Amino acid sequence: MIQLRKYPFPYVAALAICSDPDSTRNMEDYVRFHDWLEEMPTASGRGLHISDGLFLKSRSLVSFLDESLQLDARVADMVRAGRVDTIHSFAELDEEESGAPALTQALDALSAQGIKVDIWSNHSRSRFSMFTGEGDAPGSRYYHASQLAKFGIRFLWFAGFTPIWGQDIRVQPAQLLEILQHPCGMEPLVVRSCLGIIGKLVLARVSSRYSTYRGNRLLCPVIARDGTRFWSFMRHGARLGRNDRFIHLAEILSASRLDQLIRRQAATIVYTHFGKSDGDCAITNREAVMETFSALAGQTNSIWVCPTSCLLRYVVSRDHLDWTVDQRSAVLTIRGISDPVSGYRQATARDLEGITLSSHRGDIRIVVPAGMRVERSNQGNQFHYLLKEDEVAVPVDSRGIQIQSLEQSS
Ligand SMILES: [Zn+2]
Repeated sequence: MIQLRKYPFPYVAALAICSDPDSTRNMEDYVRFHDWLEEMPTASGRGLHISDGLFLKSRSLVSFLDESLQLDARVADMVRAGRVDTIHSFAELDEEESGAPALTQALDALSAQGIKVDIWSNHSRSRFSMFTGEGDAPGSRYYHASQLAKFGIRFLWFAGFTPIWGQDIRVQPAQLLEILQHPCGMEPLVVRSCLGIIGKLVLARVSSRYSTYRGNRLLCPVIARDGTRFWSFMRHGARLGRNDRFIHLAEILSASRLDQLIRRQAATIVYTHFGKSDGDCAITNREAVMETFSALAGQTNSIWVCPTSCLLRYVVSRDHLDWTVDQRSAVLTIRGISDPVSGYRQATARDLEGITLSSHRGDIRIVVPAGMRVERSNQGNQFHYLLKEDEVAVPVDSRGIQIQSLEQSS
């Protein structure tokens, strides 16, 4: 019996942070903060690999492109390292006045320089917003949904919040009760918020408007008004503009809440603004940063702390993986991904990173695409086969079976 593990071995839960760049003072602060995260001592010994977002284009705020569409070299490095994976619309409202042609021009400038990101997140109250604004309304001067898809955007955030701690599992009554004791204190809003989420969970069963809430999942397919298909994802937070500052993160990522995430074997994408600072509690204060992330750093052997795009890609691949196994020869073949948004495709190394198959058998051969390797580990009487991206292609024989012996890790 071979099973697909819920999260990459050895993790039992997953956490990403999706921060909006509003209020981050400058690129120096931004880069240094991410350097500190990467250097953080963690239980896994690998630093905290947390991704972030930037505005598309801005005169004064942290963005991919400046006014003359020049790409910041530091940004290019961070995108390649997987530390920047989200575009947070235009920064300035007057920038929006120029409409979709300016946005397309900026996306083309990014493409021309080899920059590709998966995630588009709406800047609040923008007329470009899809579903709530005119971004997906053909004929509008803000219409750009098809341009985003062409650029390579797969995942959209358009204001879906859930106060429930832990997605990727069925809602448990305890999770609803917890909303009433939200660590950041929603005070008069708690009851309303609790009733609101219950209402959305119920409505999600019948209305496509609330489909992102269906089944307490991390993401779901959506079809924009012009017919363009995307994945839409949820962020964990109280609501827009509430408990969304750096100062709130220490409580949101407290040891007891991380324990709950592990016990529930759940995943979450936390909503915040790293750059919204309060006095000494700011991303420019190394001590505050270390303190804020210390509990998370201690759980990196159990919780997969990863960039938002990695988690989203992983969940799509895991939930729609097409694989077959020949029990007699113990050869497992991964064929592709039946992606409900983009259709069936051959699985690439990027799709499969982290996929883990578990079995009591230690002799399984896994046929993987070029650029991947299989790392086998054992734990008790279970063997775990973790798929990893690799620069060196694994040689295969005429039947497509890996020739080299499996690498064994402790
Ligand atoms: Zn914003």
